[in-house]
Amino acid sequence: MSYFGGTENETDDPHADKFFTKLSTGCGGAVTGLILRLALPAPVFDLFDYLPPADVDPALLRPGQRLMVPFGRSRRCALLVELATRSSVPTSRLKAAYRLLDEQPLLDEEHLGFLRWAAAYYHHPQGDVLMSALPVRLRKGKAPLTPRPDQLFLLPVAEDVIAGLERRAPRQFEVLCWLRAQGGNARLDDFRQRFPRMRHALDALRKKGWVETGMGETALSPARPAPHKLEPEQRQAVAAVSARLDEYAAFLLDGVTGSGKTEVYFQIAEQVLAQGRSVLLLVPEISLTPQLVRRVRRRLATRVAVMHSGLGEGEREQAWQMARRGEARLVLGTRSAVLAPMPDLGLVLVDEEHDPSYKQQEGFRYSARDMALVRARRADCPVLLGSATPSLESLKNARANRYHWLRLTRRAGKARAPQMQVLDVRNQVLAGGMSGLVLQALEQTLEQGRQAMVFLNRRGFAPVLSCYECGWLSDCPRCDARQTLHRRRGRLICHHCGNERPSPKVCPACQSPELHPLGQGTEQLETILREHFPAHPLIRIDRDSVSRKGSLDNLLAEVKQGRAGLLVGTQMLAKGHHFPNLTLVVMVDVDSGLYSADFRSAERMAQLIVQVAGRAGRGEQPGRVLLQTRFPDHPLLRTLVEQDYAAFAEEALAERKTAGLPPFTHQALIRADALQAETAEAFLEQAARQLTADDGQVMVWGPVPAPMHKRAGRYRMQLLLQADERAALQTRLHGLIPALGKLPEATRVRWSVDVDPLDLY
Ligand code: ADP
Ligand code: ZN
Ligand code: ZN
Repeated sequence: MSYFGGTENETDDPHADKFFTKLSTGCGGAVTGLILRLALPAPVFDLFDYLPPADVDPALLRPGQRLMVPFGRSRRCALLVELATRSSVPTSRLKAAYRLLDEQPLLDEEHLGFLRWAAAYYHHPQGDVLMSALPVRLRKGKAPLTPRPDQLFLLPVAEDVIAGLERRAPRQFEVLCWLRAQGGNARLDDFRQRFPRMRHALDALRKKGWVETGMGETALSPARPAPHKLEPEQRQAVAAVSARLDEYAAFLLDGVTGSGKTEVYFQIAEQVLAQGRSVLLLVPEISLTPQLVRRVRRRLATRVAVMHSGLGEGEREQAWQMARRGEARLVLGTRSAVLAPMPDLGLVLVDEEHDPSYKQQEGFRYSARDMALVRARRADCPVLLGSATPSLESLKNARANRYHWLRLTRRAGKARAPQMQVLDVRNQVLAGGMSGLVLQALEQTLEQGRQAMVFLNRRGFAPVLSCYECGWLSDCPRCDARQTLHRRRGRLICHHCGNERPSPKVCPACQSPELHPLGQGTEQLETILREHFPAHPLIRIDRDSVSRKGSLDNLLAEVKQGRAGLLVGTQMLAKGHHFPNLTLVVMVDVDSGLYSADFRSAERMAQLIVQVAGRAGRGEQPGRVLLQTRFPDHPLLRTLVEQDYAAFAEEALAERKTAGLPPFTHQALIRADALQAETAEAFLEQAARQLTADDGQVMVWGPVPAPMHKRAGRYRMQLLLQADERAALQTRLHGLIPALGKLPEATRVRWSVDVDPLDLY
């Protein structure tokens, strides 16, 4: 079976299957004695039984430790999950583990329980889930890195306390003054150089809790910005959560862009940190910028472990260890941080809870937002989901009183909500997709010395290159999709599989030179806007222009300093950024979201419009938003523009209810792909057959081709399961999924299960 997506004919480990068969069928008499139940990264749903290593005192064995074990003909690192006294496998057939790798458990039982729940809910092999919660080096059986503090931090100390030290403890005074002069943060090496014989003074300061040693580029500022004086709605929100700090309670912080949700998170987090408990703050991938990290560190003055996909293995492990040992009281991270072990968890915050990046789309397909709720429930602490555009799932829960619904309806401070306007572009002469009105509005804004943003969620020069002579289109040879023209690089690139080739000079089919780009991408907008406004500096922000680490940060800093008048970009621009001088936002094309096969596309587009619009008018000047469309009468678009997101969401929820779609029903998608469509279809037909003895509670559709049938050279089919009750769906999956892996057809396809899928392709 190739559950993990190997190619056809490739099995993960030829012995894994045989081993599993032995375990599950060997009923030749139970054994007693100590049995270790281990998780191994294998495509198998159960745990594996082993005997303890011969030379280890069984009393030293505890769940959460790693062991090296024989596996097939190789050796693997495994995680001890349970200690048992019986196995269904005869002792003679059980192998002994080679050796114990950890003295202390890496994960505590509570956390193991949480991860095992997730494996069961998402129907993903336990070993893979548990192992993916460990840093890569630890998964491979390596020894944990020794934590080596290399930084000194000054914690907030009152001025008169410092002054009082001058006579009583002049050395400590000297160290504090020096550290303060360094901005509250210095490298330990520098300290040693500057004060070669002051170890004792430093130890004394650490004992008092005024100075701390730690790792990473943490910058605790001694000059913490004063908290804002809360607006009434913010105060109510903080009070509502503060009243429930010692129990599980779920809150939806439904606050318009710029309403100060972050300040609400901070003030609640401060209380939890003051109790000595820790805080998990999840943010979407795009929002986790160095600015945000600095803002959090400065404001909360606590040790922060930052976790995101851009970290190196070592950095990631250090952050993970700091979280696990409770040294970092605040974990700030993207999706996978929800898997990080944290003792004394006291608060879970999910910012931009509607963001699709919380859903892992491959391998262990989990929703970090949903797991955050379960995690908070298990830790008996509050969880706060924040968004200006809550997902329909969360709104439904808020309406049903499963979440406490906290609303921030006004922007904080002096900023006002932006004005939205729909521009009908039918029968209009467009320049690079932009109407005359748009160009005029841009000109006006720039002349007033303000900034404008032109948004289009499509990078490259044009989504298609076509031949006017014979109708040739730049199809991708490996996908049911077109290759995008990247003109500056002179290449055609498929955004789905990465396949690329040089952009042809003449038509590959008829040799005609009449090759023309169709449609627009951000590269084209940049070209045209530079021609129109040569005097105004322009910055383009998308995945092509921001490829180097840190370059987004630099570009954004330039924008904030007002050096660029025009900003062009994709959704990298949409989230969280605060440009006080930006007053005009243009969305070049909102139509792709209005009519699409995916029932979630209208919700996504509405969220994007509101988020992008939210970049305008965050300073004292009012903001204006222009939406170009060919469907100015689309009902959901009208509701969004003439009323607001809440009204849109209400209508969209009513539509979903009528159509029997999520969040009113629950779905799971079983996907399969293969080099031949028939192979994938045959596998899913077998799966559907297993489901036909139905109790009427779970509907099964398919197998049908995926919306993008061919991708990267493989044919993709899918089977959709839907039920009114989550429990009924779970019961069916529970019976089905382990059996699927044993089907003979399973060896010839790549297959996966996606519970609560966000994308149906
Ligand atoms: P959101 O996350 O809701 O979009 P932010 O938390 O980023 O909003 O806040 C928007 C701006 O308003 C920030 O510059 C923040 O410092 C400021 N702000 C937040 N709360 C207040 C307040 N109570 N008074 C004045 N300004 C505030
Ligand atoms: Zn041609
Ligand atoms: Zn492709």
